[in-house]
Amino acid sequence: MTRKNVKRMTLRIDRQGNPCLSVPVQASRGEIWKFMMSCSDWLSRYAGKRTFFTLPEEIHSGDEVMILGELRQIFLQRAGKPSLSFSDGSAVLELRDPEDPVKAAAAYERALRELALRVFKARLRRYLHIIPEKYGTPEIKIRKMTSRWGSANQTTGEIHLSLYLIKAPVECIDSVVLHEAAHFTYMDHGTKFYDLLTDQMPDYRERSRRLKNYARS
Ligand SMILES: [Zn+2]
Repeated sequence: MTRKNVKRMTLRIDRQGNPCLSVPVQASRGEIWKFMMSCSDWLSRYAGKRTFFTLPEEIHSGDEVMILGELRQIFLQRAGKPSLSFSDGSAVLELRDPEDPVKAAAAYERALRELALRVFKARLRRYLHIIPEKYGTPEIKIRKMTSRWGSANQTTGEIHLSLYLIKAPVECIDSVVLHEAAHFTYMDHGTKFYDLLTDQMPDYRERSRRLKNYARS
C-alpha cells in the first residue's frame, strides 16, 4: 500500500503479479478497510486465477494438489524410476529424492506433463471423426499457457493445450479438445463452428462456462 497525492483509492496488479493499493495521503484506516472490502470479490477471483495457472514450487508429502478436477493429497515415496499414480482422494509421486521439496515439485511437473499428454490424446480420439482426413491425427503439444486453454494450427497439424488444463475435470477438458479439433474444419468462431460444437456436445457452452468459473475458484 502506498499513500499518494491522489483523490481516489485504486487497486491494481503490478508486473510481478502483486496487488498494489494506492490511497490518498489523508485516507483513514476505516476508509481503506471499506475500500478493500468492496474489492474482495475481485481479489479472490484474481487469487483463484493465480493459483489455477501455477504449479507448486515445492512439494512436501501430504500437500494438496489439484488433478482432473479433484483436490488430492499427494504422498512422496522413494523409487528408482519416477512415476505418478492415484488411488481415491490421493496421489503418490515416486521419485529418487523425496526429501527435497524443490526436486519433488520438478518431478511432479514432469509427471503431470506426461499425464496431461496421455489424457489429452485419449480425449482427442473421441473427436477425430470431425477432423478432415487430410489432417490425420493432430499432434498434441503441452505448453504452460495461461491466457488461453488451447490453439490449433492447420498448417503444422498441431494442437497446443495448456498444461494447467489437466487440473480441470475431464468434461471440461473435452470441451477444449473438441473446440480445437473443430478448428481443423472452421478456423474462425462463426455460427457454423459453434453449430459443429453443439452438435457434438449439446452442453458445450455449459462446460466452457464451468471451466471458466473453475479457473476462478
Ligand atoms: Zn477457438
